[in-house]
Amino acid sequence: MLGGMQDWPLRVMRILDHAEREHGTREIVSLYPGGIKARSDWAGIARDARKLARALERLGVRKGDRIGTLAMNHGRHLIAWYGAIGMGGVLHTINTRLFDEQLVYIVNHAEDRILFYDKVFAPLVERLRPRWTGIEHFVCFDNGEFDDLIAAESDDYAWVEGDEREPMMLCYTSGTTGNPKGVLYEHRSTLIHAMMQISPDVFDLSARAVVLPVVPMFHAAGWALPFSTAMVGGKLVYSTDYTPPVMCELMREEGVTHTAGVPTVWLALMQHVEGTGADLGKLNTVHIGGSAAPRAMIKYFTDRGIRVGHAWGMTEMSPLGTVGAATGDWDLLDEEQRLDYMCRQGRVPFGVELRTVDEEGTLLPRDGRSSGRLQTRGAWIVRQYFQDDKGEVIDEEDWFDTGDVAILHPNGTLQITDRSKDVIKSGGEWISSIDLENAAIGCPGVAEAAAVGVRHPKWDERPLLLVVRKEGAEVTPDQIIAHLSGHVAKWWLPDEILFVESLPHTATGKLLKTALREQYRDYKLASAA
Ligand code: ADP
Repeated sequence: MLGGMQDWPLRVMRILDHAEREHGTREIVSLYPGGIKARSDWAGIARDARKLARALERLGVRKGDRIGTLAMNHGRHLIAWYGAIGMGGVLHTINTRLFDEQLVYIVNHAEDRILFYDKVFAPLVERLRPRWTGIEHFVCFDNGEFDDLIAAESDDYAWVEGDEREPMMLCYTSGTTGNPKGVLYEHRSTLIHAMMQISPDVFDLSARAVVLPVVPMFHAAGWALPFSTAMVGGKLVYSTDYTPPVMCELMREEGVTHTAGVPTVWLALMQHVEGTGADLGKLNTVHIGGSAAPRAMIKYFTDRGIRVGHAWGMTEMSPLGTVGAATGDWDLLDEEQRLDYMCRQGRVPFGVELRTVDEEGTLLPRDGRSSGRLQTRGAWIVRQYFQDDKGEVIDEEDWFDTGDVAILHPNGTLQITDRSKDVIKSGGEWISSIDLENAAIGCPGVAEAAAVGVRHPKWDERPLLLVVRKEGAEVTPDQIIAHLSGHVAKWWLPDEILFVESLPHTATGKLLKTALREQYRDYKLASAA
């Protein structure tokens, strides 16, 4: 047939080319340690990324080599992202909060050849250097080292081209059990994911957006914000300090409109705002994901006119799976119905499919009741883990098992009940630890809560609720039970409530349930006597 369309490979560097050409003066702001603020823009980032690409080639890095970063959120880190990808490398962002053993495993498994790191991690780098066998070059982002590396380079450089299915980034899951697994992102999957992410029902990004990503750049590709913000030419505000007062100040000073992060971050921010009356400036959209967003948190923001996007995803999904956005009948819903809706994890954008199956693998209906294993497939979902001899992790029809337990509703919304490992199995039925925790957080005086299953002679397991009180609050177990009674079924009520000083978190800010289960599995409940 005569005629046809052009071949325009969906390669990630085209995003930066576009940002430089069309939005070159849009700023990238970085707050470095010591309160030092630096400003660049998309043209500056692109220029420095080209210089870095040349420097990397000079150091002997070749197409396909892994380039590690062990760093917080800042402009130099962003230059390293695009420079590494631009010279054909595979960017490997390393979670700075992992234990030594995991860091040794990940860097060696990835076969990183060069490592960029922040000065604050220098002691860690010194300690692990002898055990990281493949790294030939270490470059500190600070002390002028990074700047010197690229200073003398020309910025005359053409990005390495190739097939759109080539890999460009490697992210490891935090691996709460067993070794962390690497997910290898491709140019095409990442670019399509970014195009989806900017859309109104997803992150709603535009050239007017001023984005403060609180999510670290090492957590699931920084939720892909370095790509999607560039795609629309938005302004990026990075910080190496996300304590609430600093965050509030940055929001006001830089006119932040969008932010994104895990619930624990927002709990701290809310307490700060309540305690001090601090103001959030022009903030109009907050994306909450990584763990379930409690109702009280969603209400807190929406009461202030700030839109909440409750997002669910995972490293294996680049990472976005679903986001809560208004439905077609939104105007007909009252406030409570809207909150009910937003407590769920939202719906899929084009490009992702979901289904739930029972233990035998039989498809479950989307009836808002049936709870089962959540599976997914789509354009930016993992097929096989990096260098993993287990082979593909999808079935014959490409479905990937997420390890989450969920309910799908008739209107397409996803409701995550639990991670399959965390659900509390009582008398042959399941109790959602997420629902219990989030109901508890709605009780005045409760700062944070974790529900874990404790062995029980009659019921198999019963819930134990661990609660951190808000500073100065004197809330009692009876008050919490009374509050919970209004939100969950009677047989879901915890058999006991224990107050603790703090709760353990994973390297990405989620409750560390494995540790809590170990610690409390054999706790002696009075009800078991
Ligand atoms: P890691 O295990 O490395 O922290 P991810 O960040 O990829 O990895 O974690 C993905 C998991 O986080 C999901 O499978 C799900 O259990 C949980 N999760 C993410 N977002 C939500 C959410 N909004 N509600 C409930 N659980 C969530």
